[in-house]
Amino acid sequence: MKTILDLSKQELEAEIKPSFRAKQIYQWIYQQYVGSFDEMLNLPKSMRTELETRYSLSPLRVLKEEQSSDGSKKYLFALHDGLSVETVLLPMKIEEFDEDGQRVHHTRYTVCVSSQVGCKIGCAFCLTGKSGFVRNLSAGEIVAQVLFLKKLNNIDAARRVNIVYMGMGEPLDNLQNVVKAVGIFADIDGLSISPRRQTISTSGLSSQIEKLGSIDTGALLAISLHAVDDETRVKLMPINKAYNIKSIIEAVKKFPIDMRKRVLFEYLMIKDVNDSLESAKKLVKLLSGIKAKVNLIYFNPHAGSEFGRPDEKDMRAFADFLNSHALLCTIRRSKGLDISAACGQLKQRQQNELD
Ligand code: SAH
Ligand code: SF4
Repeated sequence: MKTILDLSKQELEAEIKPSFRAKQIYQWIYQQYVGSFDEMLNLPKSMRTELETRYSLSPLRVLKEEQSSDGSKKYLFALHDGLSVETVLLPMKIEEFDEDGQRVHHTRYTVCVSSQVGCKIGCAFCLTGKSGFVRNLSAGEIVAQVLFLKKLNNIDAARRVNIVYMGMGEPLDNLQNVVKAVGIFADIDGLSISPRRQTISTSGLSSQIEKLGSIDTGALLAISLHAVDDETRVKLMPINKAYNIKSIIEAVKKFPIDMRKRVLFEYLMIKDVNDSLESAKKLVKLLSGIKAKVNLIYFNPHAGSEFGRPDEKDMRAFADFLNSHALLCTIRRSKGLDISAACGQLKQRQQNELD
């Protein structure tokens, strides 16, 4: 059965008469977290019954949940056809000062969503890539991941979360559904997550980056660069044969970005592959002229992987070099390393347990 989460509010308005009901339905789903159409109390009973026969409200089912010591939580969700995807909730403690100069603490949540079951790109370091491509997620299946995580963790409906499309799959290989999900997330009667709080991460499909730029959803862009020369990059990411580094940089330069925002470049540090200062130097050169921010990520080793985790001192030296050359850089602590949080790893474990 079709899930109602696949429908934008405009589509729902076209399907449900009178159309103002669409707004109420959206609010029940995304702001009241109802579990059934029957709970939508301001709708006529006949409409609730009709909705029940036409749509499902819950395209996901929790298969597995893991909590990491650093607070992140990883979920494995079953889809309606028995396939499964991962979603991660990353809470971050923020310290701020209020109007009275008092120190206040609060938590900001980021949800890492999957966009496909599997992935066609087949990067050498990635477990999702290793298992091949199965299918695209629908917009509703993407939206449901965030809705479910908010609901399951009792996160107040009014709390806006950030979204990163960094789970399983290549979002730009499922452009249409991802763009639709960006819009559904942003709906003010829904989760009301502005596109500026949504970051689409790509392995660098240059032509799709241009397409996304021309649609101009307002979502932010992250590039999984991981190497500074084509020779190294092609070994890590075979897609680099079709779209080399130069083509990615050109596409990024054309991408519309908010004055106050930057394009994020993710750089997976792998021991003795791309962790030298020589690489750092080339990276500074490559990104000159782009409003960029670099996120260094520790490679997260998994069973059977040929790559190693970089030394902390090399990571620091790399970061220091970038920062001292005016290239903003942060090190992403491997959140949830102990719950196998890197893409595809929970699913892999589940499969191993079943084998
Ligand atoms: N397909 C998109 C988005 C999903 S992957 C992309 O490649 O950008 C999200 C991030 O997880 C990417 O930056 C990817 O390089 C990273 N990743 C994959 N395997 C990893 C591993 N074993 N350790 C750490 N990061 C990993
Ligand atoms: Fe696909 Fe991203 Fe994994 Fe590469 S890193 S195989 S693009 S999910």
